[in-house]
Amino acid sequence: MSITHDIRPSGLEEPQSVLPPAPQLRGDVAIIGAGSVGTTIAYSIMLQGLSSQITLIDTNCKKCDAEVKDLNHGLRFVPSVHVRMGAIEDCAGAEIVIITAGAKQKPGQSRLDLAHTNIEIFRQMIPAIAKAAPEAMLLIVSNPVDVLTYAATQFHGGKNPYIIGSGTVLDTSRFVSLIAERLGVNVRNVHALIVGEHGESELPLWSSAHVGNIPIDRFETADRGPLTPTEREEIVNSVRDAAAEIIAAKGATNWAIGLATARIVEAITRDEHAVLTVSHCLNNFHGISGVCLSVPCLVSRRGAMPLHSVALSDEEHRKLIQSAEIVAQAGHAAGL
Ligand code: NAD
Repeated sequence: MSITHDIRPSGLEEPQSVLPPAPQLRGDVAIIGAGSVGTTIAYSIMLQGLSSQITLIDTNCKKCDAEVKDLNHGLRFVPSVHVRMGAIEDCAGAEIVIITAGAKQKPGQSRLDLAHTNIEIFRQMIPAIAKAAPEAMLLIVSNPVDVLTYAATQFHGGKNPYIIGSGTVLDTSRFVSLIAERLGVNVRNVHALIVGEHGESELPLWSSAHVGNIPIDRFETADRGPLTPTEREEIVNSVRDAAAEIIAAKGATNWAIGLATARIVEAITRDEHAVLTVSHCLNNFHGISGVCLSVPCLVSRRGAMPLHSVALSDEEHRKLIQSAEIVAQAGHAAGL
């Protein structure tokens, strides 16, 4: 039936469309490594409806198959998604390939202790991914994440600028959680970053930290004054030692890294231009080049763009350079 007469009273506007805006594209994601971290990333992506297809890939096919079945049994309760098991060739068509494969820290080991083993895994794996999915963005989560992000850029053949590491997105989340807890404020209102290596030499950017729009050194409430130097030190130590403590107690960290990685996936697939401290190969960032390290970056479908205008105090600058040297040295020592 067609309407031939406009029956609206005169003076009324054209009716607006009642259709919701078209959904944004949701890229396919492949996750290599179906261990604690890879499966928790898959679960976090599923819950938030960030991808229309998730492909899980692992050399342990029996475990991978069981994980895929287990995730599929929950499909009824999440936004529509297809979860399947695959091989490296099945990365073809993925917008993002997330790598969590490899050795993990045992109690007492540092992340850098994993460098040699995981670089050798990457030496085989990255060219195979590059062949299967030359355009895909690579999101490195395996540790040591900064060294492996650099390794991935080398082994990919230098053709893909879209290689990033999860970096200190997780450490930054730990940092703001602890600050929020101490100050009795909502975690979403704390704006403070951890940069540098995802590891021992990481550093907090206290000089630019804010709560709401109040510089952190002036933030106080009716209940308490600003953070004391001792409290600041305790917070930073807790952030740095968090993974080791959790690994000593339960063997792995998985929940927060699952959510942190899903957050990065969200920023990419929704083309958000979100500020996140991902690891990226730096080119003259405050004088640092040729090493992958976390600094605040704009993250979108175009990858990560470091924000060169971020302000650093002299001490923060010195510590960031130290952190860069440690990561570069670990890469050289492991044969990069
Ligand atoms: P895990 O042992 O549970 O899982 C690793 C999986 O990788 C295993 O299932 C194994 O079969 C698989 N694998 C090994 N070699 C492979 C290959 N060549 N191809 C495909 N699959 C392969 O370990 P996890 O706890 O899931 O941790 C995974 C990695 O993530 C570790 O390196 C860990 O240190 C790292 N991690 C990083 C962060 C971070 O913030 N970036 C946080 C937590 C863990």
